[in-house]
Amino acid sequence: MNPQHLRQHVQLQPYNTLGLMAVAEYFYALTNADDLPGLLAMAKTQGWPVQLLGGGSNIVFAGDVPGLTIQMNLRGIRECSADYAGDTVIIEAAAGEPWHAFTQTALANGWCGLENLSLIPGSVGAAPVQNIGAYGVEIADVMHSLRAYDREQGVFVELAASDCGFAYRDSLFKSAQPGRYVIVAVRFALSATRPLVLGYGDIASALSAAGVSSPTAHDVARAVIAIRQSKLPDPALLGNAGSFFKNPLLPAAQVAALQSDFPGLVAYAAQPQAPGLQKVAAGWLIEQAGWKGYRRGAVAVHERQALVLVHHGGGHGAELLALADDIVASVKARYGVQLEQEPVLMGQA
Ligand SMILES: Cc1cc2nc3c(=O)[nH]c(=O)nc-3n(C[C@H](O)[C@H](O)[C@H](O)COP(=O)(O)OP(=O)(O)OC[C@H]3O[C@@H](n4cnc5c(N)ncnc54)[C@H](O)[C@@H]3O)c2cc1C
Repeated sequence: MNPQHLRQHVQLQPYNTLGLMAVAEYFYALTNADDLPGLLAMAKTQGWPVQLLGGGSNIVFAGDVPGLTIQMNLRGIRECSADYAGDTVIIEAAAGEPWHAFTQTALANGWCGLENLSLIPGSVGAAPVQNIGAYGVEIADVMHSLRAYDREQGVFVELAASDCGFAYRDSLFKSAQPGRYVIVAVRFALSATRPLVLGYGDIASALSAAGVSSPTAHDVARAVIAIRQSKLPDPALLGNAGSFFKNPLLPAAQVAALQSDFPGLVAYAAQPQAPGLQKVAAGWLIEQAGWKGYRRGAVAVHERQALVLVHHGGGHGAELLALADDIVASVKARYGVQLEQEPVLMGQA
């Protein structure tokens, strides 16, 4: 490890898209995966808890962060094998590569499959952690395998996509074994002839409004980017972590009962993630409970998208989490539905 990369008392406000203030006790920007074993051994000797940080776009700092925060800055993109099966190629990207830029590099090289996931913030290494998804595609659909450092065994390991316990906004890395694996590189199976996924959200209408009748992967990426820019606040302008709550997965009978009480309730089939369950639009529940546009001090519910909590600056995680708690309680009281927070909590309240 490089001792010059280790810093003490680092302000984390620039390292999270919510822009919340918090201080890391120790902070190490990791640029070489070979530094990991020594770095983690040192943290163990010192008794420091270890946290991993990517782009900070799915994190809420509840308070200052004790111990060692490792920022995953590993870089590099390479083609591992051509003609893997037919015209499929395996592309490997290091954990610190910015996700959106990687999707656009893939497209530019004719490697299709990531276009629906354009403009999601964050890093490649964090993408498997919550099985990022948008517009009908999840990383589970396109991931081949990944390389990680297993902190339990003290060795680098290879995990196939099928080993990763992927579920809706969830994986082995988020729920079953949080903190065990440090993902250093992710491989994707991409192909120039991969069928486009067009049937989700507003993609078809955006393409038709643009006069595109035979879309390419580039057209889909452009449509996704335009839709996202029109709906979601840009974290560079207004602090946010994207969707703050998961869309609840409920049994069809419960959804039908809710729809008879609340006829406008938005729900759709959740298959193949969860057969027999329906995904209910958490944003609709929150908006109808009266929260859209609500502001309390430095934090608020976004005025155009009730699923997004925003931070106007100068605030701390505690204020945001108090607002989130009140929203959860109000949705529970009104609909009997328990909302689950999507971003990961880090730091001590
Ligand atoms: C405007 C906006 C829109 C968004 N839209 C979407 C969307 O459409 N779909 C979606 O799924 N998400 C979305 N997100 C959430 C977020 O972008 C993704 O979850 C993203 O993958 C987080 O990446 P990150 O690098 O910022 O991770 P961070 O926030 O830094 O970390 C998230 C978690 O991953 C862990 N982690 C980070 N790197 C590693 C690693 N290398 N190895 C192991 N663990 C690691 C961290 O410890 C933490 O637990 C959005 C966020 C924003 C701000």
